[in-house]
Amino acid sequence: MNCPKCHANLDKVQVFNVHFHRCSGCKGIWCGDNEFNLLENLKDAEMFDIGEPLVGKAFDLASVGKCPQCQQQTLATKSVTGHEYLRAEHCHSCASWFLDAGELSECRNHGFLAQTKAVMSRWLAA
Ligand SMILES: [Zn+2]
Ligand SMILES: [Zn+2]
Repeated sequence: MNCPKCHANLDKVQVFNVHFHRCSGCKGIWCGDNEFNLLENLKDAEMFDIGEPLVGKAFDLASVGKCPQCQQQTLATKSVTGHEYLRAEHCHSCASWFLDAGELSECRNHGFLAQTKAVMSRWLAA
């Protein structure tokens, strides 16, 4: 299976009991819905997300083709619920996610900020 962004090989990785794939090139993370939920809520995101954030940023808007796992459809770019600033690629057919290097850590680091902003915007809109 190859990376949807840089086309390097996606390596199988296991950290603790979480199984996912990490790109051998850009270090982006490929995982399923369940793993994504686990990763998103882990405190030690940096242990999983070992890539260089600048590389991830460079690939953030790179065009993507069909899902590397099921080949059923073109990956859709969507904001991660609760982290609107975070763009991830998602396959609806096989419920998989691709996160650029650094995005998972950013998700953790800015989670509190994003929640605060969301509450503030709701409050301002009321
Ligand atoms: Zn890659
Ligand atoms: Zn798929």
